[in-house]
Amino acid sequence: MHAGTTLPASSRPLAQRLPVFPLALAPGERVTAYLHVQSFGPLIVPMALMDAPSLHRQELLDSILISLFFGAMLVMLLYNASLWLFTRDRSYGYYALYLLMSLCYTLALTGFGPLYLGLDGPWLAIRMYTVGGTLCFVLAGLYLHHFLELQRQGGWLKWLNHASIGYWSLTSLLLLLAPYSALLHLLNPQLMSLVSIVFGLATGLYLWAKGNPSAKLFTLAWALLILSSLACMLALAGHLPLNDLTLNSQLLGMAVEFTLLSIALAERINRERAQRIQAQQDTLAYAERLAREREEKLHAQQQALRIQRQTNEELEQRVRQRTQDLEQAKLRLESAITELARLSQTDPLTELCNRRHFDECIRQELCRAKRSQTPLALLMIDIDHFKALNDNHGHPFGDECLRAVAVLLRQFSQRAGDLAARFGGEEFILLLPGTHRTAAGLLAENLRQAIAALALQHDGQTVRLSASIGLIAEVPHLDAGVDELIKLADAALYRAKRAGRNRVVDAAEEPVDSPA
Ligand code: GH3
Ligand code: MG
Ligand code: MG
Repeated sequence: MHAGTTLPASSRPLAQRLPVFPLALAPGERVTAYLHVQSFGPLIVPMALMDAPSLHRQELLDSILISLFFGAMLVMLLYNASLWLFTRDRSYGYYALYLLMSLCYTLALTGFGPLYLGLDGPWLAIRMYTVGGTLCFVLAGLYLHHFLELQRQGGWLKWLNHASIGYWSLTSLLLLLAPYSALLHLLNPQLMSLVSIVFGLATGLYLWAKGNPSAKLFTLAWALLILSSLACMLALAGHLPLNDLTLNSQLLGMAVEFTLLSIALAERINRERAQRIQAQQDTLAYAERLAREREEKLHAQQQALRIQRQTNEELEQRVRQRTQDLEQAKLRLESAITELARLSQTDPLTELCNRRHFDECIRQELCRAKRSQTPLALLMIDIDHFKALNDNHGHPFGDECLRAVAVLLRQFSQRAGDLAARFGGEEFILLLPGTHRTAAGLLAENLRQAIAALALQHDGQTVRLSASIGLIAEVPHLDAGVDELIKLADAALYRAKRAGRNRVVDAAEEPVDSPA
């Protein structure tokens, strides 16, 4: 009877995944069976003699367990393939391919592939096992490269991984073309698989120590695979008891490894998402901070602008106020000057022009009269017996009388150019430019009469006043002086006094002795 991997299932004595040789024996019959074994690689031959029901029970149990394993692998494969489809992250792609190759390898290893999936036949069955195994290393290397970001690590790790991938690719090609070549012995895949596994573990440990967050779970998964493989190898070498557990420990290790690697990938998704969310939050916080700073700056600018505007307004207001104050002060000063000028020209008691102002005016009027050869009249008025009035009625009443006379003088000097002034004491003077003698005489007489008509009341009695007036009215000759003019008027006044007071005397009149 012939059985084994190189035979199609149909050619085997029993359609079983493992070589089974049926022996039909009569009770008590003794036979000698010879088993001739041929293999191109290491092979274990754990022989067992069992009856048909035991075989079927055993096979059923194995099938259930191994199917569970395949189911789990298939789920992980599809899950990671779909993750790769959606994320385009090559780690998922290589992991899915790694799972696929592991599936091929284990399908061949367990004999399920050739038997149930119609993948039997010497050519395919051998290659599924060998090439599937070596391609597992190639894809594990690629997965390692992307998952642990060896490209970024650079250095010896990256190059050793590249060398491992290269070696396993070459071996895969060789196994595909010539599974039994002598070259394969030179390449020694058994030893190299050990080296590759140890290298993977070292890489994981190294990166874990360096703080690569993905390295932890990867190392754990890898270590479990090594341990399980080691257990299987030790069992095969006779150092551990060869039973169902040790024999299938590699499958068990692979199942755990795949699960852990899936968890590692999921953990990485989660970590990257957390990082992305953190980055988004950071960006948001940064944008918010920028916006806040800009707002604060704007606010400060507006504040500064407002303060500046306010200051300007205050300044303008102050300048306006100051200008107004200055203008008012100027007006006050001007009116004070005017008042001062007025006061300096006015007699305080009678409010007529004072002597000083009169002196200025008469000088001008004399010049004008000389120039234009027009007459200039001058009336010198002195109240009669004023001393006695003061003595009789008191000085304050005397002042009242002076003010009453001043009112009359103002009434008699209404024309432009006319000037009434207090000459001193109870003496007054009237300057009448452009007034001829006759008119001046008439005015003087009227004035005298008006003064005489005054009836001032004091202490229940009527007090009467009289005044003597000296008059001069002439076109002044060219060398005439002010003093001379006044002297002439004064002389006329003196004559009026002498003549009995209460009268007008023209300086041009011939002196007549008064009857008094
Ligand atoms: P006559 O008729 O000769 O002019 O006599 P009279 O008394 O008026 O002349 P006299 O010169 O002797 O006196 C002038 C007086 O005028 C003396 C003085 O007391 C008075 N008198 C001068 N100034 C003022 C004044 O401002 N107020 C008052 N109440 N009296 C004055
Ligand atoms: Mg007098
Ligand atoms: Mg007098």
